Amino acid sequence: NIATALSTIVVMAFIDVRLTIISLAIAPVFLLITRRVGAIRREISKLTQQSMANLTATTQETLSVSGVLLTKTFGRQSEAISRFSNENESLAALEIRQQMIGRWFFMIISVFFSITPAIVYLVAGRAIIGGGTDLTIGGIVAFTTLQSRLFMPLGQLLNVHVDVQGALALFDRIFEYLDMEHEITDRPGAITLEPATVRGDVVYDHVSFQYDVPIDTEDAETTDLANRLALDDININIKAGQLVALVGPSGAGKTTLTYLLPRLYDVTSGAIRIDGHDVRDIKLESLGEIIGFVTQETYLFHSSIRDNLAYGLPNATDAELKAAASAAAIHDRIAELPDGYDTIVGERGYKMSGGEKQRLALARVILKDPRILILDEATSALDTHSERVIQHSLETLMRDRTTIAIAHRLSTILAADQILVIDAGRVVESGTHSELIATSGLYASLYHEQFSNADRREHELATFS
Ligand code: ATP
Repeated sequence: NIATALSTIVVMAFIDVRLTIISLAIAPVFLLITRRVGAIRREISKLTQQSMANLTATTQETLSVSGVLLTKTFGRQSEAISRFSNENESLAALEIRQQMIGRWFFMIISVFFSITPAIVYLVAGRAIIGGGTDLTIGGIVAFTTLQSRLFMPLGQLLNVHVDVQGALALFDRIFEYLDMEHEITDRPGAITLEPATVRGDVVYDHVSFQYDVPIDTEDAETTDLANRLALDDININIKAGQLVALVGPSGAGKTTLTYLLPRLYDVTSGAIRIDGHDVRDIKLESLGEIIGFVTQETYLFHSSIRDNLAYGLPNATDAELKAAASAAAIHDRIAELPDGYDTIVGERGYKMSGGEKQRLALARVILKDPRILILDEATSALDTHSERVIQHSLETLMRDRTTIAIAHRLSTILAADQILVIDAGRVVESGTHSELIATSGLYASLYHEQFSNADRREHELATFS
């Protein structure tokens, strides 16, 4: 376009410099307007992207399995529909504005280019009639023809500027994410531990941790929250192969304590060591191999049971898959399904029952065979049979590996080598079940509150069955 425009202008200037200047006199005004239109397009592109992100988030949130369930059970379908409609309409309006922006401007340019030949005929015609020029009629016709050829390349060049501005708004948004700093990365010289040689000793050495809460200085409550330590001077020594049960009231810091070991967060002060190595000196990938995490809520991918299990060990053979599933007491159930291990579990595993999902999660970790296991026991009550089955799978899983369990099952607590009672970010009591009961402290009162009933229920159900 630049080549065509320049060559046309040069030839026009050869024919008549004065007419060329008249033809191009208004061009600087167009350039200014183009810059302005480009800036507006950039702004609208940005808004359109935000609106699109909102719409996608709303759709994903509402149409996810849990979202649909929540919407239906709370009778909020019409609200969900109107929320979608509003966002959809605002996106549509923005898209239209984005397409329309500058159309009037290009319309003015095209009108201008259509009428300039008439001006040229007028000015040049009068000059020829007046006899004050050596321009010929042929020259004028050649000039106006060239002039009409100038419109396309110039118009397109101006358009490119506006389009580029719109595209830059997308880049701004992409770079917002690409430029984000990773908070937790491998240190230079971080080491890889060979999983087979890891013993599994875990030490928390004067560990304190504070969540990064954005402070609103006006609001005393958020300032207070930001200054509060989620964990305060935690010292724990776990020997390889031991089972440690964490108990304590809600919000005490149990989950936070477990998150620090695989470096989901880094300690604020103190250190955590595995076999004497500070976790910050171990490569994140290596930590991921050594540590297995079973979360309270099982996350399954929308894929086959085989794929979900093999996430723990990508090259697992069929025999290994079956062995892990048998150890987690889920193999027989899978075998009953029409497609067996190829059954698609549905988004987040909605086609499986709660107990089945838990056992699949256990099978996945058994397959991974980590040296250190973090177990956040599900609080949801299962029937006695499923409970026993899971209990059995858990025992298989915890055997011979260091386990830190956020314990909700009495059997796990009773089997623990150490029970740590966490309250307000501190270890307030530690010992075995009988030692802690004897001290009549927080553990004893939690135990009486939570488990004496559960104990009785278990007994009743056992008698009943
Ligand atoms: P529960 O038994 O109810 O799961 P918990 O003992 O596991 O509780 P944590 O989840 O470790 O407790 O939370 C400890 C404290 O840290 C709580 O006061 C909680 O509000 C706060 N907290 C947890 N996660 C965050 C976060 N991402 N940002 C800020 N504060 C957090």
